[in-house]
Amino acid sequence: MPELLSYDFMQRALIAAFLVGLAAPMVGIFLVQRRLSLIGDGMGHVSLAGVAVGLFTGNQPVATALVFAVAAAVLIEVVRARGRTSGDVALAVMFYGGIAIGVVLISKADGDTPTNLDSYLFGAITTTSTSDVWTFAVLAAVIVAVTWVLRPRLFAVANDEEYARATGMRVTALNITLAVLTAVTVVVSMRVVGLLLISALMIVPNAASQLLTGSFRAALRLAVVLGVVASVGGVVTSYYADTPSGGTIVILAIAFFVVASVLSGLLARRRARRQEHLDEHSHEHGAGCGHPAIQHGDHVDYLHDGERHAAHADHWDEHHIVSAGPKEDR
Ligand SMILES: [Zn+2]
Ligand SMILES: [Zn+2]
Ligand SMILES: [Zn+2]
Repeated sequence: MPELLSYDFMQRALIAAFLVGLAAPMVGIFLVQRRLSLIGDGMGHVSLAGVAVGLFTGNQPVATALVFAVAAAVLIEVVRARGRTSGDVALAVMFYGGIAIGVVLISKADGDTPTNLDSYLFGAITTTSTSDVWTFAVLAAVIVAVTWVLRPRLFAVANDEEYARATGMRVTALNITLAVLTAVTVVVSMRVVGLLLISALMIVPNAASQLLTGSFRAALRLAVVLGVVASVGGVVTSYYADTPSGGTIVILAIAFFVVASVLSGLLARRRARRQEHLDEHSHEHGAGCGHPAIQHGDHVDYLHDGERHAAHADHWDEHHIVSAGPKEDR
């Protein structure tokens, strides 16, 4: 057994990381779809005010952060539903207000506040207490269950709100549900990833998985796998490298995104090439297929789109014609 598993605090950290890695991309996929990628970031800012109120009043910061984030989530959706043009200004005021209140209150709270603030902003997973883990486990289970059950409806609303409304779906209720799920995810993740970076764990695994997959179902599945691997892997790495968990997790997630970008470029090129071949070869070249036949050593090439193609059992050979004279054979 690796030594890190022999520490209670690392066991708690790994459980928390697993839960966060699972829940964050599940909620995030709908945010990506609705082009609300940064809303989690905003809720992180508001949650900081909640943490500050908790520290200041001697309440559980997790609980007060939850109250603040959920209230902000509902408010955001109400403002959005009103359709006022000033909607994003209202959000901006709320987000900056959140972080301003947070910073001011935390500076007035007792205890070693600077370290405390850091741990909420950037994650300090080893500070996760047993009661935190239980709270997170219950909340994460709720997030996963609700997201899973509402998945088809959330998908419909995220995809085309107007249409969903026309078919009689309770769009506003679903939007508020998604906002609340986002808020709860932010709070659950603050110990692991931190309030400033949690949005990345909701968005980046989805961005990576959407590069590689074609369907919503496949994208969701891959995003959850990437989220869990980045989250748990980030915690393990942060233990050995002695780095903050949040930043390490997000760097891993971004590394996956970079790999996915490269892979998807290669896949697209291969697909294009295969498509090209299919387009061109709706028939098998042969005597009388309409393409000029040219004897080439032991086989016959057919002149086709400026290239010579030769069927060789199960594959095609392509000879690019370098010289000007198409009849020249070398
Ligand atoms: Zn032909
Ligand atoms: Zn040939
Ligand atoms: Zn051909």
